[in-house]
Amino acid sequence: MLIVQKYGGTSVADTDRIKKVARFAADTAKQGNKVVVVVSAMSGETDRLLKLGHVIASETKQSPDRELDALISTGETSTAALMALALQSIGQPAVSLTASQIRIVTDSCHQRAKMKYIETGRINSELNKGNIVIITGFQGVDEEGDLTTIGRGGSDTSAVAIAAALHADCCEIYSDVDGLYSADPNVCKNAVKIDSSSYEELLETAGAGAKVVHMHAVELAAKHDVPLQLKRSPSIEAGGSVRSGTKVTREEINMEQVLVSTVSHTSSEAKISVRDVPHKVGIVSRIFQPLAKANINVDMIVQNVASNLKSDVSFTIAKPDLKKAMQLSEIAAREIGAGKVEMAGDVSKISIVGIGMRSHAGVAAKMFETLAKEGIDIQMISTSEIKVSVVIDAKFMQKAVDALHHAFIS
Ligand code: ASP
Ligand code: MG
Repeated sequence: MLIVQKYGGTSVADTDRIKKVARFAADTAKQGNKVVVVVSAMSGETDRLLKLGHVIASETKQSPDRELDALISTGETSTAALMALALQSIGQPAVSLTASQIRIVTDSCHQRAKMKYIETGRINSELNKGNIVIITGFQGVDEEGDLTTIGRGGSDTSAVAIAAALHADCCEIYSDVDGLYSADPNVCKNAVKIDSSSYEELLETAGAGAKVVHMHAVELAAKHDVPLQLKRSPSIEAGGSVRSGTKVTREEINMEQVLVSTVSHTSSEAKISVRDVPHKVGIVSRIFQPLAKANINVDMIVQNVASNLKSDVSFTIAKPDLKKAMQLSEIAAREIGAGKVEMAGDVSKISIVGIGMRSHAGVAAKMFETLAKEGIDIQMISTSEIKVSVVIDAKFMQKAVDALHHAFIS
């Protein structure tokens, strides 16, 4: 098998952990596999370098982004070289390669470059010589040969892109979490680890899944059909062995048997309601355009049309954006002749996700009934084919997650 193993910053936080990872990767190779290791910078290193860069860049007038990329990409270069040394010192042939050595080619949009293609010639020839190939995550190089980086947390995406380019059998993502859970174990004591999931399910759990793997990497894996394994790193797991984790693949028939696989929640959201919005074509956009311009991300939107040709428009945003969003909404409301603007500063979004919903009716009804029994008022609802989300008062978050987990999972 050809396996890509990606190790995050905490998995390679110090030389001891790097050695543990090296031993594990070498064992994987000894079992007859070709192994590519994609590494992040040692934890805290990218932040440290960025801080240094910003202290000095504050005095220049031109954009610092090109040099910041040259600077912060060294974090991954260091880990890759250290990992290769660790492998060589236990007798495992290994070679480190940077993005420019390989040619992981991106556009020239420094700090958030997009990958265009990856040349696989050098990687394959090193693998064929019996080497474990260690590749820097997060890095790219543009057509001019300038170093780029693909955005914070990007090395998961690097790993998946490399796995896709190499047609690897799977991409293993090692972090400090041992997989996807049916709910946040800190909130729900009955939460269990999920053995297998689908790309779509994982993408829908967003907040919850994001702790394990970058969502952009999951999108890419889905696009190229790269099987993922989400596992806790052998450098963090007691004893250095690795437990089974969560396998994420394209949807399979038997997955449909599980009605709901996760109950996820967010806790730092706020809600704004604009009352009595005149019912005219194009008017809602005048509420949301100023928010978009101010870079305020709107999550859930609900519009209730009343009979008097006026409607209430409610939406949720991240709590830190509340003040600014209120100001902008009040201005917009005045301009379009709407009524009061009200806010709820502390709401929580609870979602149930499961592929089985596609073929079963009554899941939403059961969710609402479960919450009603607990006396929890639902403020907003939204659904997709495999997800139902509700917004509730944040003080009921734990109670809601527990009740829904009990009703649908265990
Ligand atoms: N080192 C980079 C960061 O801290 C990339 C990564 O770890 O995925 O954002
Ligand atoms: Mg990461």
